[in-house]
Amino acid sequence: MSGPTKATRALVWERDAGRCARCGLPITREWSLHHRVPRGAGGSRRPELNSPANLVLLCGSATSPKGCHLAVESDRRDAQRTGYLISKLVNLDPAEVPLLYHGAWWVRLDHHGGTTVHAHPAPGRNHR
Ligand SMILES: [Zn+2]
Repeated sequence: MSGPTKATRALVWERDAGRCARCGLPITREWSLHHRVPRGAGGSRRPELNSPANLVLLCGSATSPKGCHLAVESDRRDAQRTGYLISKLVNLDPAEVPLLYHGAWWVRLDHHGGTTVHAHPAPGRNHR
């Protein structure tokens, strides 16, 4: 089974600044590199599944009762609404699906470890 390269893992860790993408808390203990479009059958034909656009840091693991990893796995409807889970069936590029980042704002993740703000809920400051 092939996964993201070491360089991609490092990019994702750097992009997310060592924080859980979903709750925004610094990762101190267990964490996971979460695939938004799940890997699985046919995954090898879709290299974007191992791209930073498809990967986020999440706190917790699939077996720890606390943490965002299990929350995403157990509430799939909410995970789909917030961009943490993208159905393989729809065949979307994860770079085109907004993600609710830190529970606060929507971003798009690009394939190179960058992010762009997709929508911001509150006006920040005046532009002069
Ligand atoms: Zn979290």
